[in-house]
Amino acid sequence: MNSTAPGLAAPRKKIIVAIDGPAGAGKSTIARHLARHFGLLNLETGAMYRAFALKALRGSVPLDDPGALEELSADTSIRLEVGEVDNRVLLDGEDVTGLIRNPMVTDGASRVSVVPAIRSWMVRLQQQLGSDGGVVMEGRDIGTVVFPHADAKIFLDASPEVRGMRRFDQLGPEPPQQPEEVIRDLRARDQRDRNRADSPLRPADDAVLLDSTHMTLDEAVKAAEAIVEEKVALLGTPVAS
Ligand code: C5P
Repeated sequence: MNSTAPGLAAPRKKIIVAIDGPAGAGKSTIARHLARHFGLLNLETGAMYRAFALKALRGSVPLDDPGALEELSADTSIRLEVGEVDNRVLLDGEDVTGLIRNPMVTDGASRVSVVPAIRSWMVRLQQQLGSDGGVVMEGRDIGTVVFPHADAKIFLDASPEVRGMRRFDQLGPEPPQQPEEVIRDLRARDQRDRNRADSPLRPADDAVLLDSTHMTLDEAVKAAEAIVEEKVALLGTPVAS
């Protein structure tokens, strides 16, 4: 990932913004907005775990076999490219962006992400992607592990019911799941993310907590923007790219 999509402003500040939090908290919407507003590249790390899960599922590699997953990872290339709105994720050169949002891959991503060897591989890739700064990176461990020295860290949260309903509303006119199934799956993923031994989901000590349970996404976006504005102001003159 070393190019900016046509029509997008080149990154003008070398700041790193880390956005972490559970599924459905509004991370993607907020990250997208912050990227546009501050002229940063938006990088969705969840898409990388999803792409790897897709490969494991396609190859019938057991998702609970860390050795087999590690072996598979040695033979896998995952690239994230910044597009006009979202990221494109390339799995061994194939654009799999449209194939990674279904419930099976979603569940698979949550399972492969508990494996330490997979996490350290992903973290290395993500650190390379953000090494020049000028990025907003969203995930679960960005402020704690990937970029512990990020300039601004936001930990987004909301109640499981609110997050589940947001996810359900994104499923379109023919949702493959009922709202209660979406909420149930989301709780299971939360449980795994928060309780895994390696880099569990938690706010970094210096993250600003933003609970959007009683906010519209628009209000949460504005609040996140204010948090980053404040951090950028504290940094003094931003480093130009
Ligand atoms: O953010 P998204 O829902 O696309 O992430 C898919 C899964 O990947 C999450 O459920 C989580 O378990 C895992 N993940 C992670 N660390 C990240 C990003 C995602 O463990 N930085």
